[in-house]
Amino acid sequence: MEKTVLVVGAGIGGLATALRLVKKGYKVQIIEKHKQAGGRLNQIKKDGFTFDTGPSFFSMSFEFEEFARDCSIKLPFEYVELDPLYSVNFGNSPKTFFLYKDMAKLSEQFKDIEPDFDIKIDKYLKKCGELFHDTVDLVIKQNFDSMLDYILTLMRVNPKHLPVLFRKFNEQVNRYFTSSEARQIVSLVAFFLGRTPFDTSAVYSLLSYTEFKHDGYYNVSGGMYKIVEGIVAELLKENVTITYNTEIMDFVEKNGKLESLTDQNQKKWTADIIVVNADAAVFRGKVLKRKAFSVEQLDKKEWTMGYLTMYLGVNCKLPETNHHNYFLGSNFDEYAGDIYKNPDKLQKPYYYVNVLSKHNLDCAPEGCESLFFVCPVPDLRYKPNWDDKDEITDSIIEDFSKRIGRDIKPAIISKTVYTPVDWQQQFNLHRGSGLGLSHSMLQIGAFRPQNFDENYKNVFYVGASTVPGAGLPMAIISSKLAFERVEKFAKK
Ligand SMILES: Cc1cc2nc3c(=O)[nH]c(=O)nc-3n(C[C@H](O)[C@H](O)[C@H](O)COP(=O)(O)OP(=O)(O)OC[C@H]3O[C@@H](n4cnc5c(N)ncnc54)[C@H](O)[C@@H]3O)c2cc1C
Repeated sequence: MEKTVLVVGAGIGGLATALRLVKKGYKVQIIEKHKQAGGRLNQIKKDGFTFDTGPSFFSMSFEFEEFARDCSIKLPFEYVELDPLYSVNFGNSPKTFFLYKDMAKLSEQFKDIEPDFDIKIDKYLKKCGELFHDTVDLVIKQNFDSMLDYILTLMRVNPKHLPVLFRKFNEQVNRYFTSSEARQIVSLVAFFLGRTPFDTSAVYSLLSYTEFKHDGYYNVSGGMYKIVEGIVAELLKENVTITYNTEIMDFVEKNGKLESLTDQNQKKWTADIIVVNADAAVFRGKVLKRKAFSVEQLDKKEWTMGYLTMYLGVNCKLPETNHHNYFLGSNFDEYAGDIYKNPDKLQKPYYYVNVLSKHNLDCAPEGCESLFFVCPVPDLRYKPNWDDKDEITDSIIEDFSKRIGRDIKPAIISKTVYTPVDWQQQFNLHRGSGLGLSHSMLQIGAFRPQNFDENYKNVFYVGASTVPGAGLPMAIISSKLAFERVEKFAKK
């Protein structure tokens, strides 16, 4: 008889695992707390505008292609390569840098700032490439059954990379570049992991290789939410049911087995196998009531920063902007301290502006533009009160207007803001941390909450706070790792 699977959470990790399973003959149903699928990869439709709420581009497109092949489908969305990857503007200079994948075009912009930039970036990326190829298949795309298994695997990584383990991202970058502009631009990718270049391991400089050389970044035609719509359509074709507005709050155990999960209306949900896409650390604490994952214990872990996100509809076109724009503050070096925990600082290390309507005209009414701002901020441990959100968003709007040389305030006809409070409430993200658990050395691999449950043999996890980590391609890899766990269990 076919085995039944209950997937808790319709984020990208849950949706992708569900599709892998239903295609292999499991009977799958999904329950989701939110009113629609996607989790952080979500969408707001308001005042005639369409906004992506979280991710705005992805790397490692080959992971999506492999996912489609594994599920015997054509990838249900179209993606477009970004080149330039994005633009970067410094607060104290009118110059805007374009991050071209063509190294000659990229280097040209540094010719008066960083001598021999072309030679340095080449050397830097070569090292990043070696790190990527020596670790990705061996460490990132693997399930580990025990700590020993993990450590033995790490011992197989080429020992020439050992010194990098003991360095921070910024230290690695500083070995190759001398100018502040080159250092900041090359380090920016460390922020994409939800921390700063000053507290992110140099191992992650492999991300520089993924952005510039290996595969680059991609947009999705029609907006990032097309990924969710596409996978949901495939699931519906396979008769998977998705029940929204349903949050799992509790569980029932019988004879050492997880018998059922209980939702907010006391309804019990049962299945042979449970795949949890809710945050793997939060779920173990909040729902399974494990002491090791109590709120106090979770607070002691390292989390990625919170995000303040703002979705603006303006009644004019903004030719001064690009599709993906980074605006850096002038306080980059202050982030070497713990300033990102400081709630009083209005100036942020950077904010990112995505102009979705630039290439997706139907995401804004004619003559209008749909803007999405992302700004890293302290999580709710450090800044629990967001009553000043209007003051903060006004300061960002003012800075943005100055940088592009046009006051956009009078043109705003739609405004929605999510603080870490909203991110926490909507998707159960611990203290509103945007990307989940950080990727410090003691929180990755076998140290991360595992994708199999400690107590219940039929419970598995997928998503950002289990292996391998945060980001859309990682969620797709995570779905493969969780799928492999389920298959192994089901075949026993
Ligand atoms: C502002 C922002 C920008 C980002 N930008 C990028 C980017 O450009 N590129 C990129 O690759 N990544 C980006 N990311 C990261 C990316 O969004 C995440 O890594 C990824 O979407 C996480 O997917 P997931 O399936 O692990 O979790 P989630 O998306 O969090 O999905 C988990 C789901 O479980 C549901 N849930 C939780 N608890 C329960 C419960 N008890 N019962 C029922 N349901 C529950 C939640 O509502 C949610 O829908 C960004 C994230 C944010 C916040």
